[in-house]
Amino acid sequence: MKKNELLLLAAVAVFVSSICVIACYSSSYKSSLSVTDDSSQFVTLTDAVPDAILEIRYFGTYNFVGHRIDGYEEPTALLTKRAADSLRAVSDDVMALGYRLKIYDAYRPQQGVDHFVRWAKDIPDTVMKDYFYPDLPKDVLFEREYIMAHSGHTRGSTVDLTLFDMATEKELDMGGTFDWFGPESHPDFCGNPETGEYKGGSSDYGRSITAEQFANRMILRKAMLRHGFKPLSTEWWHFTLEEEPFPDTYFTFPVKQLNGEK
Ligand SMILES: [Zn+2]
Repeated sequence: MKKNELLLLAAVAVFVSSICVIACYSSSYKSSLSVTDDSSQFVTLTDAVPDAILEIRYFGTYNFVGHRIDGYEEPTALLTKRAADSLRAVSDDVMALGYRLKIYDAYRPQQGVDHFVRWAKDIPDTVMKDYFYPDLPKDVLFEREYIMAHSGHTRGSTVDLTLFDMATEKELDMGGTFDWFGPESHPDFCGNPETGEYKGGSSDYGRSITAEQFANRMILRKAMLRHGFKPLSTEWWHFTLEEEPFPDTYFTFPVKQLNGEK
């Protein structure tokens, strides 16, 4: 009996201390999130990856908002040095296959994310609906997490990109556009991205992609994963460096060419 009581006491003690560990861990995790405008560990993407082509959608107006996004002061792309080095390796890989990387977005200042949130709350503003979210009422964009208050892009090691085919001088056909809000953008749409197997089928809205379009998405995905990037389950164009140097830091400096000795 006594032994059983002791065991019970020990089990309770372990249980209580594990709760404390979880609670302490989560509170220290929250307090470890930091915000800074220090760009010293960043590089201009085309300095590190000169073969990349830039089409910075948030500097222009062809994006889901329809206006230039806050914090984008020049049509350039910035990344942490570590992410840029890995992206250079990806670029060298796909160049050997006849492709160049085409960059839509990389580091995104918090002001840009805040602009998206402001736009998402302005329900009547649907100027770009036909191009980016024709199947969805705007008021579900928050609820379905198409727009969120924080983005991995703000930590500086995430990039949105596609492949440009040097033979045809066009983007490779991925069967969908960057920033399309819908299941058609998911890497597992019409296939299994782990095995590369095409399965076909269609979304609730009757949309589909071909075996070739799925295979094209896989070329990009495989090259990115080979060099340390991890995919996102909802966007075929979005990748984050697995070993990102600033997992808890959100940056606020604007997107423009970085000067000085980097
Ligand atoms: Zn992205």
